[in-house]
Amino acid sequence: MTLNDVAIIGGGASGTTTAFHLANRGKKICLLEKDKDSTLRNCGGGMSAAVQNWFPFELNPIVDEVIKKVEFTWCLSDKVVAELSGASPFWIVKRENLDSFLLNKAINAGCILITSFNVIKIEKHSKIWKVTALDGRQIEAKAIVIADGSNSPWPKTFNLGPKRQHHASTFSVRIQGRGSLKKETARFEFGLVNNGFAWAFPLNDEVNIGIGTFLNNKDSISTNKILESLLPDLGFKTSDVIGQSGKLRVWNGHSNLNKDGIILVGDAASLCDPFLAEGLRPALMSGFEAAKILDYWLEGKVDNLNGYTEIMRRNWGNSMAWGKRISQVFYRFPKVGYKLGVKRPTAPKRIAQILSGEMSYEDIAKRVINRLLFSNLHL
Ligand SMILES: Cc1cc2nc3c(=O)[nH]c(=O)nc-3n(C[C@H](O)[C@H](O)[C@H](O)COP(=O)(O)OP(=O)(O)OC[C@H]3O[C@@H](n4cnc5c(N)ncnc54)[C@H](O)[C@@H]3O)c2cc1C
Repeated sequence: MTLNDVAIIGGGASGTTTAFHLANRGKKICLLEKDKDSTLRNCGGGMSAAVQNWFPFELNPIVDEVIKKVEFTWCLSDKVVAELSGASPFWIVKRENLDSFLLNKAINAGCILITSFNVIKIEKHSKIWKVTALDGRQIEAKAIVIADGSNSPWPKTFNLGPKRQHHASTFSVRIQGRGSLKKETARFEFGLVNNGFAWAFPLNDEVNIGIGTFLNNKDSISTNKILESLLPDLGFKTSDVIGQSGKLRVWNGHSNLNKDGIILVGDAASLCDPFLAEGLRPALMSGFEAAKILDYWLEGKVDNLNGYTEIMRRNWGNSMAWGKRISQVFYRFPKVGYKLGVKRPTAPKRIAQILSGEMSYEDIAKRVINRLLFSNLHL
């Protein structure tokens, strides 16, 4: 059996990003994916153009729409419009296109893809990891990257990630045509969805419509009721909508994302934003950072992978800690949240800056605290 430098489990956004960067640095990489072919993914495909920073090639070829305007509504009225005028706009991609684009880049850089490899066992024997598939095939590697998404069992097995995992409930569907959605415009609707929001993101010839709830994930979402109101408002008929439901693991506290020779990335690492469900940016960021530290570790330049947990905490977790607080308050009191958080004169600009990645929740929270302190001093 040949020994790989790194075996990556899962060929989604985070796994393919890690695979590309490690293969591009000359490492012997195998990517283990349980599916045979790329499948339609349950994802809105909205992401900040800032993700371009983590790639040496242009992502433009797979961008369906560049969003310049975001419309927010409360129960389909009380509209607020945010212009995304910054340097980093918001992109909408078809998820299967993003994943297969990154996968091809990884393969061209030398990564070996093994499909229909459903990982059921991961063990370590004297510094070597052995990964076993359901059909009995085995792979050996010096390090493992866990990139198998929101249902990953491995964080618990290896005592990594947050102690208590938290999941958002989601539903999404792709509908042919553009309905009444304007060009270069995305839509967020808050009042119709308990503890969450609905979105409509335009693609080339389709619209991705979805619903996410973030607090009470015990009850299923009343999808039909929401779609009955939302779809006509977006210019679509309510008939024949067959979507996908799923659980999305979201950020739930700072935690260890690595041990000796093992790293969690993307949803498996619980990185997804608990307020807006932004999971692509952290998936790509974590893939980039994981590849960097694994390369140093394999080269003997660092003797552990702890720098990965530290950098993800600094560059993502600190903002998500505020995102979680904002989510808990906003979705508990959404009407007040919409009034104070979305309808304030400066809010559209701030929301645009969050979506485009120009500002973090931490930056916003610090501004608010400063404003409160400043106004108190003048009372
Ligand atoms: C409805 C919905 C809408 C969303 N919309 C957005 C959005 O608009 N913008 C945004 O930024 N984020 C969005 N997200 C979040 C985003 O989709 C995720 O954060 C992102 O997919 C994480 O990528 P990943 O590579 O970590 O995991 P995944 O994309 O889930 O990839 C995991 C991969 O691992 C494979 N795998 C699983 N188990 C095994 C196994 N045992 N063996 C081998 N392979 C395995 C899977 O087949 C899959 O290919 C949305 C999520 C949902 C559910």
